[in-house]
Amino acid sequence: MVRSVSILGATGSIGQSTIDLIARDLPSYDVHALTGGRNVAQLAHDAIALNADVAVTCFDECYQDLKDHLSATSITVQSGAAAIAEVGMRQTDWVMSGIIGSAGLVPGMEVLKRGGTLALANKETLVTAGPLVMEEARRSGATLLPVDSEHSAVFQALVGEDMAAVERVIITASGGAFRDWPIADLPKATLAQASSHPNWDMGQRITIDSASMFNKALELIETKEFFGVDPAQIETIIHPESMIHALVGFNDGALMAHVGPPDMRHAIGYALNWPERKTLPVERLDLAKLGQLTFRAPDDARYPALALARRVMEQGGLTGAAFNAAKERALDHFIAGDLRFTDMARVVEAVLDNMSSRDGLENATMTLDTVLEIDHLARIRADEAVLALNTKDA
Ligand code: NDP
Ligand code: MG
Repeated sequence: MVRSVSILGATGSIGQSTIDLIARDLPSYDVHALTGGRNVAQLAHDAIALNADVAVTCFDECYQDLKDHLSATSITVQSGAAAIAEVGMRQTDWVMSGIIGSAGLVPGMEVLKRGGTLALANKETLVTAGPLVMEEARRSGATLLPVDSEHSAVFQALVGEDMAAVERVIITASGGAFRDWPIADLPKATLAQASSHPNWDMGQRITIDSASMFNKALELIETKEFFGVDPAQIETIIHPESMIHALVGFNDGALMAHVGPPDMRHAIGYALNWPERKTLPVERLDLAKLGQLTFRAPDDARYPALALARRVMEQGGLTGAAFNAAKERALDHFIAGDLRFTDMARVVEAVLDNMSSRDGLENATMTLDTVLEIDHLARIRADEAVLALNTKDA
């Protein structure tokens, strides 16, 4: 059976791994749309190689460049956020959401609204609007498949299990680039140092978020929203080898661990082939060679993002949308060189303090519009917080 698929964020790290899997078995797929951003050459190359019907860049200023690259083909070229949302609306059997940031929310929701199948790498979808997203999937009968490696691991450990028997969910973390640095050195961490991950090869933004553990913070919230578990049941542990991706603890004391090499093609391939398992091109682990796996408790002083995630889960409502947007903006400033590594968490905390009291995040009604409003507002508040911090420290 040939399945129609679209890939949102096709030029990114998740998108390219998805394309790698699809290209290995191209006759089984009818590729409808690929979307990207500034990497127009890659987008055009892949649209041709996969014989896609449509190629979309999210940036209008990249439209002409993409059009020029594809002028000799019959591939439809589009640009802008609305065109990406439209890709979500069209009837395809499977859609990968591999966009980075809250820009993934609207197109993903379009897939859910029409009862489609959404493979969700874009964790921001659940962090910003978890209750809304899960409710929409329930209402429409859509299939939502986790692609984040930890959540794919939990999902797999839960096959055939009763959620009532789950005592705890343990999400592992590599600890990121600075796990062994003296804490006093962290304010001096450079962009290049934060952009290198000890185990995973990922996009730059999520790599920096791994160093600060904001990525794990997003994942704790993602766990609560996706699996509907109580925050008190969710734990995180530092596991420097990144071989165990998550564990589920049951009420009889059993712990089911998902073990595999740090290669996103496993989680992507699982979501692509679900509910079947098919052969995937990932390394087979030699446990004797691996020798040992180690674990240690996360240090709250090193990773203030984790306490912020607990606060977001407690406050609920639109706090996740504010948290994510403030984090995205703080990260923009760190990448631009006008915010210190350790000040990202200070900015996010300042935005939450400010907006929780002023904008009543906890008790606000969640609709797509209110989520997007708070996303917008939190970015402005984050810019203000960066300015205030830099003025004070100058
Ligand atoms: P990348 O930065 O590598 O790729 C992001 C993709 O989104 C690119 O195609 C990019 O286009 C496109 N894009 C950028 N901005 C926008 C926008 N405003 N609107 C629409 N598209 C946009 O990210 P990753 O692949 O690393 O991550 C994607 C998602 O998957 C994130 O949510 C991340 O947290 C999650 N994830 C990633 C993992 C990984 O291994 N990388 C692991 C687990 C989860 P272009 O590059 O052409 O500008
Ligand atoms: Mg992950």
